[in-house]
Amino acid sequence: MSNTGRNGQPHDTEPKDIDLRIKALESILLDKGLVDAQGLNEIIETYENRIGPHNGAQIVARAWTKSDYKKWLLNDGTAAIASLGFTGIEGADVVVVENTPNVHNVIVCTLCSCYPWPILGLPPRWYKSAAYRARVVMEPRSVLAEFGLVLEEQCEVRVWDSTAEVRYMVLPERPPGSEGLDEKSLAELVTRDSMIGVARL
Ligand code: FE
Repeated sequence: MSNTGRNGQPHDTEPKDIDLRIKALESILLDKGLVDAQGLNEIIETYENRIGPHNGAQIVARAWTKSDYKKWLLNDGTAAIASLGFTGIEGADVVVVENTPNVHNVIVCTLCSCYPWPILGLPPRWYKSAAYRARVVMEPRSVLAEFGLVLEEQCEVRVWDSTAEVRYMVLPERPPGSEGLDEKSLAELVTRDSMIGVARL
C-alpha cells in the first residue's frame, strides 16, 4: 500500500523546506508591513511559552485539592478556568468532564480540530488526523487501546465532540499514591493526553 500523498510527500511528515518557506513568508509579510515584528514575536512567545498543557495541569491540580473549585469547574468551566487567568481565543467556552472509575471521557473534533488552546496549547498532529476524528466516535475502545489505554468492560466511554462554540477538557482521576502531594507537585503529574482522555494517570 502506498504511503505517499498526491504530491509524493509521505503522509504526516513536514516537507523538508518548511522552515525556509516560513522564513520567506515572514520576510514578505514584514517587508510589506502586513505584520509588525513585535506583534509577531508576541504571538510566537504566547504559543511557545504561555499556552500549553501546563495550564490545564494547574486547573486539574486545583480541582483535586479544592472541592469548591472542582464543583465550580464542573458547573461553569469557562468561569472557573478564567479565574486562573486562562482565557482567550479558542477558549471562550470550555466544558470540563470528569473521569471516575465508571466513566471515561475522551474529546475529539469530528469536523476539524477544535481544541481548548489556552489550557492545552495547540492540538497534537494525531488529534487533527482524519483517522482519529472518525474512529474515536465509532470505536472509542479500540482507539484508546491503541493509545495503550485498555478500559474495563464496565467502564462507560463518553466521547465529546468539540465545536466552534464549545471546547472540552477531561478532568482525569487523581492517581493512587498522590495523597500527600501539594498542588504544585500534583500539577507535574498531569499529562496532556490525560486531559484529552486518551490516557489515565
Ligand atoms: Fe474543529
